[in-house]
Amino acid sequence: MDTIQDLQEQLKSGKTTAEGLVQSALSRIDATKDLNAYISVLNERALARAKESDKRRAEGKTLGALDGIPVAVKDNMCLEGTRTTAASKILENFVAPYTATAIEKLEAAGAVIVGKTNMDEFAMGSSNETSYFGPVKNPLDSSRVPGGSSGGSAVAVASGTVPCALGSDTGGSIRQPAACTGVVGLKPTYGRVSRYGLLAYASSLDQIGPFGATVADCATLLSAICGIDPHDNTTSARPTEDFGAKLDAGIKGKVIGVPKEYFGEGLDKDCKAAIEGMLKKMEAEGATLKEVSLPHISYAVSSYYIIATAEASSNLSRYDGVRYGYRSKDARKLFDLYAKSRSEGFGKEVQRRILLGSYVLSAGFYDAYYVQAQKVRRLITDDFNKAFESCDVIASPAMPGLPLKCGMNESDPMAVYLSDIYTVSLNLAGLPGVTVPCGMAGGLPVGLQWIGKPFMEADLLGVAATTESLNK
Ligand code: GLN
Repeated sequence: MDTIQDLQEQLKSGKTTAEGLVQSALSRIDATKDLNAYISVLNERALARAKESDKRRAEGKTLGALDGIPVAVKDNMCLEGTRTTAASKILENFVAPYTATAIEKLEAAGAVIVGKTNMDEFAMGSSNETSYFGPVKNPLDSSRVPGGSSGGSAVAVASGTVPCALGSDTGGSIRQPAACTGVVGLKPTYGRVSRYGLLAYASSLDQIGPFGATVADCATLLSAICGIDPHDNTTSARPTEDFGAKLDAGIKGKVIGVPKEYFGEGLDKDCKAAIEGMLKKMEAEGATLKEVSLPHISYAVSSYYIIATAEASSNLSRYDGVRYGYRSKDARKLFDLYAKSRSEGFGKEVQRRILLGSYVLSAGFYDAYYVQAQKVRRLITDDFNKAFESCDVIASPAMPGLPLKCGMNESDPMAVYLSDIYTVSLNLAGLPGVTVPCGMAGGLPVGLQWIGKPFMEADLLGVAATTESLNK
């Protein structure tokens, strides 16, 4: 699949039409359906929207860079009149009554939503194996997972069905699958993109963000979806920006923080070599490498899994068999209706998280777990603030090693949780992060994660674009 810019040129020159682009996206989706990247494909709706885009173009009223471009969105974002499942049996037949702000903005910019992508159930997971609709396959290696939880969106881009897609990231779910499939994935600063219409997992951590084959395409998508939203009080009032403005700025004079805790034990040696090789190239381009320290980072995974599951247990209480989705057929009493609908409707991983979350919030354990985890969250945020006093951007692996082998979520869920070590801390601190391909290990792409200061996405994407050009 070409980039957004390539497709725009083809549209401008009349070489193709929006309808033609949607048709080829739909046939590519069909040709790659074994990858299981999509839960719903919106054939008719997409073709109708594409025709509208062509009509606008014919009248000289094209809306901008995204007009007529096919885009896929993760199936935990509402799109009015279409099925929105969060990859759960409990919402298997739920039709959204309204549209998420991020999707509304994409459509207002003329983008054509071609399908809703597969994911870990309720975005809980790092391997895309917990979906009720079956696992997503990694197009680069069928024995390994594509990463999660937005694996469907990553694979939709990596397999060339669409140039770009939206995912959501609570603890790494955009950045990890991007790394596993060799595409670019950006988690914006908390508050940059509205969460209205995103089926909540952990509200203080969730952010919507873009996937693209290039950094420039991620910048284009972010510029379209960001901004204040009266429906989400956590959105920032900062004016929307052109996030592509610094893509050619280069790295000269920038100080790159290299956390000593991130490059020690636990990191695969080939991945480490790939990342260090890139950092050397950046040094040669005029950047300065500076060792920094994040002393509380070893507590990130445990505090994340306490806070995320606590918020999830509360957010998911709305799925009670009464208000939304699946209702058990053989419940006789009200309590049975709740218990049976939830036991039959939620998968094993989601139930595990609800149990964990209810436990850490329970009267006897609240102070010992939840309150402690919130204190650690503050310490981790302070660590980043301190590190950023002496650097402009922080370099980090996206994952401890190659993509996980298929089946690990079942056999060793703890190991899967631990693989989130490099990504969850950004969500705890609300920081933006982007993963870009950087060399290879074991025949698969390695992801380099750049961590930025709050709301400095334009600078962050500039550094990512430099990485992209040095990776060639
Ligand atoms: N792997 C993490 C989890 O399972 C993050 C998921 C996400 O970012 N949605 O919670």
